[in-house]
Amino acid sequence: MKVPFLDLSLQHRAIREQALAALAATYDATRFCLGKDVEDFEAAFAKTLGYPRALGLNSGTSPLHMAAALAGWGPGDEVIAPPFTFISTVWGISYVGATPVFVDIDEATFLLDPAKIEAAITPRTKGIVAVHLFGLPAPMEAILAIAKKHGLFVVEDCAQAVGATCGGTPVGLLGDCGTFSFYPTKNLGGCGEGGAFVSRREEIFEKAKLLRVHGSGRRYYHDHVGFNFRMDGFQGALLGVKLPHLAGWTARRREIANRYLAGIKHPDVRLPVGQTTDGESVWHQFTIRHPRRDALREHLAKHDVGTDLIYPVPLHRQACYASLGYAEGSMPVAERACATVLSLPIFPELTDAQVEHVIASVNAF
Ligand SMILES: *Cc1c(COP(=O)(O)O)cnc(C)c1O
Repeated sequence: MKVPFLDLSLQHRAIREQALAALAATYDATRFCLGKDVEDFEAAFAKTLGYPRALGLNSGTSPLHMAAALAGWGPGDEVIAPPFTFISTVWGISYVGATPVFVDIDEATFLLDPAKIEAAITPRTKGIVAVHLFGLPAPMEAILAIAKKHGLFVVEDCAQAVGATCGGTPVGLLGDCGTFSFYPTKNLGGCGEGGAFVSRREEIFEKAKLLRVHGSGRRYYHDHVGFNFRMDGFQGALLGVKLPHLAGWTARRREIANRYLAGIKHPDVRLPVGQTTDGESVWHQFTIRHPRRDALREHLAKHDVGTDLIYPVPLHRQACYASLGYAEGSMPVAERACATVLSLPIFPELTDAQVEHVIASVNAF
């Protein structure tokens, strides 16, 4: 039996007619940049997931860039972030000329370890970018307590956690602002690039709205040095079709994760954490660990089970950050994670038989 790591065609086939009708309406109305489809999606996204308001953007990296600008970070400032995440988490920090300061992760959850944050704080520290990695909410209560004590601006990178809540609050509303990605492979994916920005702080949100469109509230009058981060009309239309399915897709991801958690019984496999005191995972990834990860990956490939290696290199060891001077061994937990993680298929359209095949194949290693 073949189990691909991810097959987006199944989801798109299931909503094909509705999706194409929505895209055709956008096409016929020539609503290409922002416009009604994006506004309708923003309103539905906010209402469905519990946000006071939301902004549609052109990627998940753009809101992180915008957040860094809104925080007022710049050259000489230091911003704390985890090294085990997608690179975009720290791009915003670098784009505004500030310096990412990496703080190691927790061994069990893969999330930024709050116990290690204070040792990294200096008089230059201005903020924290927390990541709800693989769908599991970050330990926001502890992170926010430290942020409050030191007056830090907190950005939540929610790219992998759409639909998750943290302490009962939707992710993105705990810190100063939250950012989402609608890259096609995300739990809510567009037919191209997309992202969103949320904030519980009205003044931050209002400024973000201006920054998204050239720092301009009134055409050809520019109050701020802004960006062109507008969401496409097509993305708004398609995401509007997909949004009502998100809760069902998340429930199916949780069902698959629970099957894996109950069924994978292998002495050397370490299973992921799906729930902490902060919240429950929406399972963007199901990431196991094994000391002989590469051999396990090869074994699974032979059984037609697709896997992915997320992430092979921690951010503090990326070539682009060599000048920051982090030696090998400086973030031991993240480095160990990179050496041992393996992500299994967990998209909602997997059949129960496929899930059972993955379990049997892992257990047979
Ligand atoms: C996907 C992702 C982003 C944003 O990526 P885009 O490709 O720009 O949409 C940011 N952070 C994390 C953790 C991500 O997984």
